[in-house]
Formats: sequence, structure tokens, C-alpha cells
Amino acid sequence: MNDNGPKNPFEELQKQLQEFLGKNPNVHAQVSSFIHTPQESTPQQTPAQPVDSPDDANDALQRIRNFSLKPKEIRDYLNRFVIKQNEAKKVLSVAICDHYNHIRQCLDDEKNREQEYHKQNIILLGPTGVGKTYLMKNIAKLIGVPFVKADATKFSETGYVGGDVEDLVRDLVKVANGNTELAQYGIIYIDEIDKIASASNSEHGGRDVSGRGVQINLLKLMEDTEVNLTSQTDMMAQMQAMMEMQRGAKKRPRTLSTRHILFIVSGAFDRLAESIKKRKSQTSMGFNTLNNCEDVDTFSFLQQVETSDFIKYGFEPEFIGRLPIRVACESLKADDLAQILNSSEGSILRQYKNDFKGYDIDFTITPEAITEVATRAESERTGARGLMTVLEKLLRDFKFDLPSAAIKSFEVTTATIHHPHETLKELIMENKHLQEDVLNGDIDRFAKWFHKEHTITLTFTADACKELIGEALDHDLTIHALCQKKFADFQHGLKIIQRNTGIDTFTIDENTVINPDKSLSKWVVDSFESTKNPQKSTSENN
Ligand code: ADP
Repeated sequence: MNDNGPKNPFEELQKQLQEFLGKNPNVHAQVSSFIHTPQESTPQQTPAQPVDSPDDANDALQRIRNFSLKPKEIRDYLNRFVIKQNEAKKVLSVAICDHYNHIRQCLDDEKNREQEYHKQNIILLGPTGVGKTYLMKNIAKLIGVPFVKADATKFSETGYVGGDVEDLVRDLVKVANGNTELAQYGIIYIDEIDKIASASNSEHGGRDVSGRGVQINLLKLMEDTEVNLTSQTDMMAQMQAMMEMQRGAKKRPRTLSTRHILFIVSGAFDRLAESIKKRKSQTSMGFNTLNNCEDVDTFSFLQQVETSDFIKYGFEPEFIGRLPIRVACESLKADDLAQILNSSEGSILRQYKNDFKGYDIDFTITPEAITEVATRAESERTGARGLMTVLEKLLRDFKFDLPSAAIKSFEVTTATIHHPHETLKELIMENKHLQEDVLNGDIDRFAKWFHKEHTITLTFTADACKELIGEALDHDLTIHALCQKKFADFQHGLKIIQRNTGIDTFTIDENTVINPDKSLSKWVVDSFESTKNPQKSTSENN
């Protein structure tokens, strides 16, 4: 973007490196392989990556060319995952359809590109964990466009300390697997935008002057601008670009236009509702009705936000002017959280079900328990994220213990929530007989492992197994760990016996489990005796 701008230290270094590599072809080859090998073998992945291969990228491009979704279809798709937020779903569906229809028209006919077009960048208002990111991620997945998310707080005005806002565009290219054609239609989502309100305008004491600087940088990005795809501060990328140039590799585009990139910003805007409330009360019939409004919730005030409210909050008019679509998201009540658990296709309960299924455990939860989890999650005040916090804490020990306890099914009830430790203990006790089968299997596995490692066969008597299982449960040890500890010296001792007598099968009885060293010493001594008196030798130890 700043090709003609003043030279920075990186440009200077780049020039010097280029000269050096030109004069030293051997170094060039070495550096080239160093740079290319790791990058090619470990391509950058991000959770929201919709594109896995060039073929996927081409499919995605084709889908944009054929874009024919209607707002209601987008809304219906979102309903499968996102609970509530009906207004947001409506506004976003329309904005997304308009945006991608415009892109399709531009692709169909070059002339459409020249027409003036006001991009439908969006600002989402609302508390944390209510589905703002989730809405956008699902939309991006549906359309098949690359999606990146960042927090506004990580950017600095200069881009040298902290992040450079242009990195967002470069990240989009990475997510699109290097396909710049697809990346130019991606979605950039910037959260915590309220944290870059500047102190100078703000009634609320915003960040500082650098907040204004970041706003200006983002403003440029939201307009139609060309972003250099090689970061000035990323030495690795700089060197890679140079290598490609010197190798005469096929030229990749050096810049990407942000013209079609859709920008979504969001933030909690904690004090904005208060400020709107104030404005409304002042304009309402000339007297202060603030107290009368107190019952009305934050959401309904945020729905009435105006440009002037954002400016008062600490935003530049030009910045906020680039975000014409404004929509507020509701906070989620216990009932909504219960509905998320019950019916969202992305419900965390589905994940838990799958996790337990991995150990052949059928996991269920009663409707009363769901209500209880949702109520506890609401009091966390972190939206749907509270569900994860409550369930993780509740099920942590179950996830740790049940896979080793041979339990086939597990139902969470309100009793489980109120007394998790007692419930877990009872569950394990009720299934003790099943657990013994598993632990007997573990003893067989240890014997097989011992044979493979030392070519010596151990056979355990029924009483020995019982003793081992009892000790393993008492000391909360796995059979393998317990046996390794108990029979740590056996491999050496038994090898001596094997040499002395040729015996390679040993029976472990209860006494040997209780006092392994005593038994081993006796066997070793006996084996030396038998070498002196060969008639005593038998095919086994006892
Ligand atoms: P934020 O509003 O802070 O962007 P997120 O969208 O990241 O919150 O929500 C975090 C997680 O909580 C999501 O990944 C999703 O699993 C769940 N979630 C949040 N809101 C909803 C909702 N309205 N419906 C269904 N799930 C939700």
C-alpha cells in the first residue's frame, strides 16, 4: 500500500539482503530450502478455515458466481445453529444477500464494477457470548467464503508494536489457501471495537489517541484500498517473496483490493445504552423520564442507536459512517441457554455426547438437569460461554474416570449436578463387576507387553489378579503402572533364572503380588541351587 512511502528499516534490510543473495548463489539456495520446507509442510490452519485445497477454493469461487440465496434462506440456515437474535438474523441475511449479489453482478458484467456501490459493512452491538461471532461464522460457512476474526485491541496505530490492521487481509489470503481471487470476497470480523473509542471525543474516557489512529487505519481498509500481501514487518514473508522473485517463480499478485471484503465489527458497548437512554429522556417532552425508562433493557436502547451516539462514545464520524448496518443482539436468559443445549446443531451437549461415545459410553441428560445447567450458566454472565464453563466443571471428573470404569451409559440428573462426587462414586461402585473385567483385561495386556519386551511369560493366578485389582483401585493407579512398579526388577532376576535353568514361564500368585522382591530373591537363589543339583530343575518356577 505504501510502495512510494518513506523507506522503513525493513525496506532497507530487504534491499541489502537482495544484493547479498544476488552475489552469493549458494547461500541463496540454502536459505531458499530453509524457508520453503517448513512452510510447505505445515500450512497455516485456522479454525474457521473453509478452504482445504485449490479445488475447494475453485468450488467456493463458483458458488459466489452462482450466488442465489434469498434472505429468508439464510435466516432459516442460521436458525439451525443460532437461538434468538431474530433481528440480527434478519438484518444480516439482507446485508449478506445484497453484498454477494453485488459481487455476482460485478463478476457477470465488468461494467457493474464501475458503478458507485456503498458497501454494507456491519456493526453488531451486544454483550459477550450471545452469538455475534457464531452468526458470522455460520454465514461465512454457508457461502463458503474465507473468514478471519481479530480483536481490535491487538492493533496499534503504527503496526510495528502490536498488530497491523493490514495483517487481517493477509490472514484472509492464508485462510483462502493463498487463493487471492477467493480472499477478496472474504469476511473480516473485528471484535472489541468499542475498546478503540478515542478519549478525545468520548464522554466515557475511551482508550487514548492511538484508538483514533487505529480507527483511521481501519477506515482506509474498509474503503477500497490495495493491501500489500507481503508484510513490511514479517521478515520471513519478505525473504520468501525475494526468493520467489530471484527464482523467477510465477508472479503472485502483490496486492489485494479490499473493495469486496465485507467488514463486520462488534463490541459490548457497555455504556452506550446508558447514553442513548439519556438522549431519549432529554428529547422526550422536555423533561427527564430516565427513571421511567429504567425497566426497559439495554437491548431495546441499543436498537435505537444513532450515529451521534457512536460519535459521543469516541468514534470518528468517517469511521462510523463506513458501518451503515447496525444491529443489536439480545442477552441470553436461562430459557434461551436451555434451548441452545436442546436444539442448536452446534450445541455443546452434542460434543459431550461424541466425546463419551469415543469410549462407548452412552451419554444423556434429563430435561430438569438441562434447566439447572442453563440457570447456573446464566449467572456466569458470559452468555452461552457460561454453558461450557458449567458443564466442564461438572463433568471434568466423569470424563476422567468413566473411560476406565467400563461404564456403558451415564445419565446426568439434577442429583449429578448437586452432588457430582457422590454420584461418580456410586456409579463406579454399581459397575464394579464390569470394571473388574476391564482390569483383568489390563492384566492380560501387561503380561503380553512383558512377553514382547523380555521374551518371558508371566501367568497370573486368579488370586493374584484379585490382589492387583484391589491395590490398583485403592491407590488409583492403572494396572500397567502398578505392575511396572511392582515387577520393576523382574526382568533382570527372571533373565538370570532363565540362563540358569532354561525356564521362561513364571506363575505370579497372590504372595508374589504382595511381596514381589521376596519371591524373586527366592526364585533366583533356587535357580542357582538347581544348577548345582540339576535333578531339581523343573519346567516352571513353582
Ligand atoms: P460473541 O457474541 O461474544 O461473539 P460467540 O458467538 O463467540 O459470542 O459465542 C460463543 C459460543 O457460544 C458460540 O461458539 C456458540 O457455540 C455459543 N452461542 C453463543 N450464542 C449462541 C446462540 N444465540 N445460539 C446458539 N449458540 C450460541
